[in-house]
Amino acid sequence: MPLAYPVAAVLAASVAMVAIRAPHGHRSLKVKVATSRKGRTEKILLTIAWAGFFVPILWMITPLFKFADYPLHPAPFWTGVACLVAGLWMFHRTHRDLGTNWSITLELRENHRLITTGSYRLVRHPMYLSLFVYGIGQALALPNWVAGPSYLAALGLLFAFRVLPEERMMREQFSAEYDAYASRTKRLVPGVW
Ligand code: SAH
Repeated sequence: MPLAYPVAAVLAASVAMVAIRAPHGHRSLKVKVATSRKGRTEKILLTIAWAGFFVPILWMITPLFKFADYPLHPAPFWTGVACLVAGLWMFHRTHRDLGTNWSITLELRENHRLITTGSYRLVRHPMYLSLFVYGIGQALALPNWVAGPSYLAALGLLFAFRVLPEERMMREQFSAEYDAYASRTKRLVPGVW
């Protein structure tokens, strides 16, 4: 298959991701932060996540990662596209569910509410799940050993270092309400973990 296919798919998916997040990023500037846990680790993790997001763009516009290209086959490509679409759809839904409670980092907003409905009824981290699905899609659809899995790797790091501090922060804020929520939901995969 010609490289124009993954270029178009990854470009469209990246634009869609930025477009889905943009209004929430914009609105979140206006909702006051009550508690911030944006320490050094968080700053490093956010930088890595952004880098992981931009590597595929660099693959498109520079020859930097040419050495790691491999031939593109239709089955992984179209499976990847399906994952990208599903991931983006879930990403949109989770933003809608979290509303003004969303932050890009470890923060609690003024009048923060614990959301346990919509996608948050299924698992405690549906937005991270949506990003994993997106990352798997990119790894499959982009035929390059570096740029393909770059986002998935960055997200894996972010998730590994953030999930426990995030749950600790939520538990401190919502106490028994969070304990009850955690006891009836899994973290990432419904019914599994
Ligand atoms: N981990 C969640 C949310 C990611 S956004 C997910 O993957 O879907 C990160 C911010 O969302 C956290 O800083 C916290 O302020 C907020 N948050 C996480 N879970 C929440 C919930 N169930 N209800 C309300 N806010 C939540």
